Amino acid sequence: MSKIQIKTESQILKMRAAGLVVAAGLDAMCAAVTPGITTAEIDAIGRDVLTANGAKSNFLNYGTQWGITPFPGVACVSPNEVVVHGMPGARALHEGDIVSIDFGAIVDGWHGDAARTVAVGTTTPEAESLIEVTRTSLWAGVAAMWTGAQVSDIGHEIEQFIKTQGRYGIVRDATGHGIGSRMHMDPDVPNYGHPGRGPKLVPGMTLAVEPMVTLGTWRTAELDDDWTMVTTDSSWAAHWENTIAICKDGLWVLTEPDGGAAELARLDVPLASLATR
Ligand code: MG
Repeated sequence: MSKIQIKTESQILKMRAAGLVVAAGLDAMCAAVTPGITTAEIDAIGRDVLTANGAKSNFLNYGTQWGITPFPGVACVSPNEVVVHGMPGARALHEGDIVSIDFGAIVDGWHGDAARTVAVGTTTPEAESLIEVTRTSLWAGVAAMWTGAQVSDIGHEIEQFIKTQGRYGIVRDATGHGIGSRMHMDPDVPNYGHPGRGPKLVPGMTLAVEPMVTLGTWRTAELDDDWTMVTTDSSWAAHWENTIAICKDGLWVLTEPDGGAAELARLDVPLASLATR
């Protein structure tokens, strides 16, 4: 029996409400990224957006259930060699750094989760390419939610796209995931692998797709703080994520302000009619 939660249209509409809060928070936090800002100051902007929208955080205190250090922020703020799960704190960003911001929200019991990577001021062409390759690989994975048949088709398309772009590391120690009435649900959505495996992609499924890509190794290590995931060779990493719903007549990218309309049109994937009702 499948453990995958299939949502009704009204439940997807509630997830869209959460997704719009996530999008607003990411917009505000990314806009604030300038040399000198600390990761804690970025997190504080995310907190304000949650409060202003009457939303709750699905990141804050995450981990309590496993007896590890409760996550202290509403956003994971991950500069340079930090792949994901950067803890907001005193670290200041510098001109030329890159930073990934991963943010989530709960509205009415339904979850949204997304991430973006931006440069701090002007960065190197290599780092710019890393950000853009990772962003575009996310959309390759999103498209596979419509053109593919099974969950592993998503990661396969992500990996194939990245391989056409140059020598990059594709992180294996963290994956995308099902999302709905909880943030992390079945199924896992790896960012690499063979096609034609795993659960069938069906309407009502909502997934968080989130490629993590590096300029060096795919290998990662976790710091003693229980959270911070870094590349083992200190190469820089980027992370992009969206929460996406499969509807019967198309996709709806719940954590993009336009529902994914522009990128889905580029990819020749239909936007769900539910998005425009
Ligand atoms: Mg996620």
